[in-house]
Amino acid sequence: MRHCPRRPLDRATREFLRDQQLVVNAGDDVEATWKRARHMPAFRPVLQNLQAMAGPTERCMYCGDSRGVTVEHCYPKRKSPTEYPRRAFWWRNLLLACDDCQRRKGSRFPMDARHRPLLIDPTRENPWDHLVFVPETCELAARYDGAGQPSPKGQTTTDPHLLRLNDQAICEQRGRAWRRIRRAVQDTLRRLGEDETPDVLQRDLVEQLRDADFDGLLEWCLARDG
Ligand SMILES: [Zn+2]
Repeated sequence: MRHCPRRPLDRATREFLRDQQLVVNAGDDVEATWKRARHMPAFRPVLQNLQAMAGPTERCMYCGDSRGVTVEHCYPKRKSPTEYPRRAFWWRNLLLACDDCQRRKGSRFPMDARHRPLLIDPTRENPWDHLVFVPETCELAARYDGAGQPSPKGQTTTDPHLLRLNDQAICEQRGRAWRRIRRAVQDTLRRLGEDETPDVLQRDLVEQLRDADFDGLLEWCLARDG
């Protein structure tokens, strides 16, 4: 799960979303309004910006898979009472997610006792603040704080009933990336002992690492615990 900071929308797209939201707020059916709006040319920049935020491979912002990726609502638009339909066209409520994650999450959206979301929103926060990578299993797990308490957001986000972060196929992809990153670093250390030019070593390492990243794992390896 990688951090995908939100990009600003152009004015015309912001106004388009606002107008659609007003239609829903006035009482029109949220599903029908969403379906209609999704096929309008004015909606295209929404998808394009989410794809750009998700990184070069435009994958699911939750699990990192590339199959059936489409626009997802962080706060579900169907959730009752009527609160979440009022966020259906909020730019900051839209993410990019795969079919499987969308299906599992459905209209569920766990909250803590103070009514704060328990799912990580990768556009608002860095997932690695709540998660760690487990090299032995290639799964993601909740991060523990200094007092020995697991991150509630990390626990909820890795719940297999809600999202597919730890499905076997995803862990296999993560494992391949982990091994490639390790090989790239080990190769560099070996060549360092052979007195190769540091500039060449650095260039080769950066190239190999850029190709090896999967779903923000590179950040965990080089800038976090790894
Ligand atoms: Zn997914």
